[in-house]
Amino acid sequence: MTEAEILFAEVLGCDRMSLYRNRALPLNAEISKYIGTVLKRRIHGEPLQYILGKTEFMGLEFKVEPGVLIPRQETEILVEKVVQEVTKSQGHNAISLSLLDLGTGSGCIAVFLAKMFPAAKITAVDISEQALRIAKQNAILHGVDERIQFIQGNLLSPYAVRRTQYDIIVSNPPYIPSWEISQLQPEIAYEPRIALDGGEDGLDFYRKIALTCGRCLKIHGKLILEIGFGQLEGIKNIFQKNKNFEAIEVIKDYNNIDRVAIIEKR
Ligand code: GLN
Repeated sequence: MTEAEILFAEVLGCDRMSLYRNRALPLNAEISKYIGTVLKRRIHGEPLQYILGKTEFMGLEFKVEPGVLIPRQETEILVEKVVQEVTKSQGHNAISLSLLDLGTGSGCIAVFLAKMFPAAKITAVDISEQALRIAKQNAILHGVDERIQFIQGNLLSPYAVRRTQYDIIVSNPPYIPSWEISQLQPEIAYEPRIALDGGEDGLDFYRKIALTCGRCLKIHGKLILEIGFGQLEGIKNIFQKNKNFEAIEVIKDYNNIDRVAIIEKR
């Protein structure tokens, strides 16, 4: 959907197709004033998702507000890969699946997977209390709040996270090189820097994850990570140096950019 379609469908309370089918759109003073306010904010660069307070991810609605990263389309590839890996190793029931989502943000990954695998044990960690508050709201919205354990902390540092062994650790960590952030589209400035800034070369969080995740994965467990443009070689270097991990598999996104890395625990 284009932004115009999203906006009109929202204010008129209809779906995309109805926008085109109904020749006479029911505009009134209140609606046109609202559209005016939205457009004014949008023109200044504020992302439409923050203005409307929600977005769609994997066909589900998620609440978003400044303080959480807006879920991206590329991250759907990450989630699809997790679904494939889980069904490959555990079947559709995934009764014994134990999964950790590092840096959950809006909770979109953990919530989708909790819906997909109703028997799985899912833990979601974030350093930001605001993100966790929204992630919990999203879990409630989708009826999976009882099924996800939300923990505040820095990556694997919380004790409850450190002492567990997972089948899968999934993460969309901050991976944009610090210097690059100010050069990206203006919308990015509205998003939380801690969800984007991956340090000087963008790889800081992969280094931290490589150092700490080995212990928390079962043998042949998998780390499934979203990665950024041109980062594959650097990431291969980081994980190949670490004796906990086996070879890396890579999946490209729709723009033919390396987007997801799957790293197996030895
Ligand atoms: N894919 C995001 C972007 O390019 C970055 C998200 C992240 O750092 N994890 O804006």
